[in-house]
Amino acid sequence: MIEKAKNLVKRQPVIVLVGHIDHGKTSILDFIRKTHIAEKEVGGITQHIGAYEIEKDGQKITFIDTPGHEAFSAMRARGAKVADIAILVVAADEGVKPQTKEAILHIKKAQIPMIVAINKVDKTNAVPERVKDELSKYDVLVEERGGKIPCVEVSAKTGKGIADLLDLILLVAEMEKLQADISTNAHGVIIESYLDSKRGPIATLLLESGTLSKGDVLGTSSSFGKIKKMEDFQGKEIEKALPGQPVLVLGFAKVPVIGEEFKVFADLEEARAKIEAEKKKISPVISVEPEQKVLNLILKTDVQGSIEPIEGVLRILPQEKVFLRILKKDIGDINLSDIKLAETGRALIIGFRVKTPPLIREIARRKGIKILSFDLIYDLVEGVRRFEERILAPRVVRTDLGRLKTLVVFRTEKRRQIVGARVLEGEIKKGVKIEVFRTPLSPRQGEEEKVGEGKVINLQREKKDIEKGTKGDEVGILYEGNVKIQEGDILVAYEEKRQKVEI
Ligand code: GDP
Repeated sequence: MIEKAKNLVKRQPVIVLVGHIDHGKTSILDFIRKTHIAEKEVGGITQHIGAYEIEKDGQKITFIDTPGHEAFSAMRARGAKVADIAILVVAADEGVKPQTKEAILHIKKAQIPMIVAINKVDKTNAVPERVKDELSKYDVLVEERGGKIPCVEVSAKTGKGIADLLDLILLVAEMEKLQADISTNAHGVIIESYLDSKRGPIATLLLESGTLSKGDVLGTSSSFGKIKKMEDFQGKEIEKALPGQPVLVLGFAKVPVIGEEFKVFADLEEARAKIEAEKKKISPVISVEPEQKVLNLILKTDVQGSIEPIEGVLRILPQEKVFLRILKKDIGDINLSDIKLAETGRALIIGFRVKTPPLIREIARRKGIKILSFDLIYDLVEGVRRFEERILAPRVVRTDLGRLKTLVVFRTEKRRQIVGARVLEGEIKKGVKIEVFRTPLSPRQGEEEKVGEGKVINLQREKKDIEKGTKGDEVGILYEGNVKIQEGDILVAYEEKRQKVEI
């Protein structure tokens, strides 16, 4: 087979801005847009498409401009490459904040170069030097601190340093030698999508390589269609799109999911076959390991139009600790088939503006299946977030092993003792924990009080080390704990185990 010759061309860089809320990401993007896109053209932008392009010194730069940076989140969750360079925005007056740290981790994970933009340097309380010091604590060593990461001080308010930022972007892009093969079939990522009441499903794509042409058949894991119309970011109709260029596409049968990768297919049948194959890949049963926690969800909503925004907000929840996986999404009240799927798929059912009939609620309760219902998207996100926290919290389960009576105290040191005890019930094992109970001086019937606790460091019988002593055995215990054991004390041996996560 003869391989098609590669046609590598220089590609415009795609930039994403990340950082803590209110540190000025939107303001910087707005400033660049206002100053680098001619006024009359700006007037032409009628809708938000999730990205824009500018030209600096004859070179193009694409900025991803999606609210909440869904595209970047999608990149994190799916490993799809969306941006080439990340700008870490840190406000000079506030410095490193929780989302700054999170952003640093994400950039490192994505393995893309970063540029630090210290913003709001116009403010009187701005201390950019402190920000640089702080960043070095998080392994972000800027050039002035002997590192390799370029850093620029900017103000989105006055525009100071923005031109330098753009120069730096071009410089880093140059060093990255960004290239794309424009002769292959186009593929890339969906960065924005919605349903337009007049024009139908609309998606903004970013091509990674290839050339996209009007009439091409596109497919993602969830949707496909033939391109009816393509527009550039300013709404101008175009016939072809090249890598790095954001392009708006009309013609998808259904709104594709943000963050999905797309490919060009030979025809609609081939694209449809891919979706069918993807659907089959989703097995409803998934084992949840303690290290990799997956929260399976069944989403029921009142109308079709609610599904997409909910998926969108769920996707921007951090997925590193708990991976959210939607097993089923459908409209209508919660029913028996949802319960059955929740049982086999160990899923949480989420109802959005739908009802759960009392009988269904009762069946779910008996089967231990959780149903959460919401009327507001904000509450839904918070509810899921809280549920995730519950999964993450280590759940320790205690199992009582046995009871012993202390017969004699052989030796007492500072924190350790050697005692002799008889196993009254159950067993005792080396390494387990014990609670010490004592009968108070004026005992009420059968009431022993817990006086302290500790651990069995070693266990012996007839001067030989043993792993376990059972009912009737007299054992020697090397004990370490926060109370001195006395003759007559009752010892309760127990084990604690981290429980496997059950949803
Ligand atoms: P984002 O959440 O990171 O997108 O932050 P925004 O761009 O919404 O900015 C948050 C607030 O900081 C807004 O009130 C901005 O007007 C203000 N702001 C952003 N950049 C600057 C700046 O360079 N100087 C000053 N003084 N204020 C700024």
